[in-house]
Amino acid sequence: MSDIKRSSSLYFPDGNIVLIAENCAFRVHASFLARHSQIFEDLFQLPQPQPSEMFDGCPIVRLSDSKKEIRYLLQIFYDGSVDAFSASSKALDFLAVSIMLRLGSKYGIEFIRNEAIVRLEKCFPSTFEEYDKLRRSQYYDAEEKTGIVIKHPMLLTKVDAFDVLELARQFDLRSIMKAAWYLAAQNPLEKLADYLEKKRINHTDFTACILDQESLVRANFHGYSEIIYLYQRFRVGYVDPSDKCLELLLNAWHDTSLSFSLSSHDPLSTPEEYSLEAHLDDAAICAECTEEIIHQTKEQRRAIFNGLPSFMKGMS
Ligand SMILES: [Zn+2]
Repeated sequence: MSDIKRSSSLYFPDGNIVLIAENCAFRVHASFLARHSQIFEDLFQLPQPQPSEMFDGCPIVRLSDSKKEIRYLLQIFYDGSVDAFSASSKALDFLAVSIMLRLGSKYGIEFIRNEAIVRLEKCFPSTFEEYDKLRRSQYYDAEEKTGIVIKHPMLLTKVDAFDVLELARQFDLRSIMKAAWYLAAQNPLEKLADYLEKKRINHTDFTACILDQESLVRANFHGYSEIIYLYQRFRVGYVDPSDKCLELLLNAWHDTSLSFSLSSHDPLSTPEEYSLEAHLDDAAICAECTEEIIHQTKEQRRAIFNGLPSFMKGMS
C-alpha cells in the first residue's frame, strides 16, 4: 500500500470510498458515483473489507482501468456536466472520446457513452448529405497541415481513423465504419508503411488500405469520365452553335482533371477543394454548363459514397 499515491485533484477529505487505478488513489463519494452507475453501486455494496483493505480509513475498490482513464471519468463527474460535454461545446481529443465510450459502456454510464457516440457519428456520418456537409464545413481540412483533419466535435488525424475503426468493431457502431475507413484509407502510402513498421497499424488494415487506394483512384477516374459522358448527353438538343463549352470542357479536363483523377484516391473531395468552379471559369465555360457539371460532380460523389462498402476491402 506504501507505493500508492493520492490523486492531487481528485482526493476529497470528505470522500467515503477510495478507488485505486494502477498506483493512484482517488477518494470520492460513493453515493454520487452510484447515482450515475449501477456497476459502481454494486461494487460499493460488496461486504465490508478487512482493515488491510482500507486506505485513510475508507474502503478500497481496485479498478482494472488506467489511472488516466479513471481521472478523466471522475473529472467529467466532478468538474463537468452533461452540458459541458454536449456537441456544441469544445472539441475533445480522440483519446478523451475513446475513454468516454469504453468506460461509459463498462460502467453503464449512459450519458457519457451517448455523448461519445454522438461525437463519433458527427465525425463519421453514414449518409452522403451529412458527409458532404462536414467536408464543406470549417471543421474539415483535407490539407491537414497540422495533422488534424477533423476539428469538431473531436480532433482527429488520419491515423486516428484506425483506432476509431477498432472502437467501432468493439462496440458494434456500424454507422460510423464507412466514413472512418474512408479516412483511414486517405493516409499516404509512406505514412502507412511507417505506421506498420512502428506497429501502429496491423498488416490486415495496411494491405486493405493499399488495395482500397487503388480502387479509389479507379472510382475517381470513372467518376470524371461519367461527368463528361453525362454532360455530353445533357448537351443533346442544346442549340447555340457558338457554344464551345464541350470542347472547352474536354480541354480543361485534359489539362487538370485527368492528372488529378489518375493520382487522387480521394474521390469524395469537394469541388471547392480542387477549385472546380475556378477551373470552369478559367476555361470560360458558360454558367449553364458550369451548373450542370457541378451538379453531376455532386451526384458522382454521392454514388461513390453510397457504393463504398461494395468495393473497399477494409469494410468487408
Ligand atoms: Zn455552355
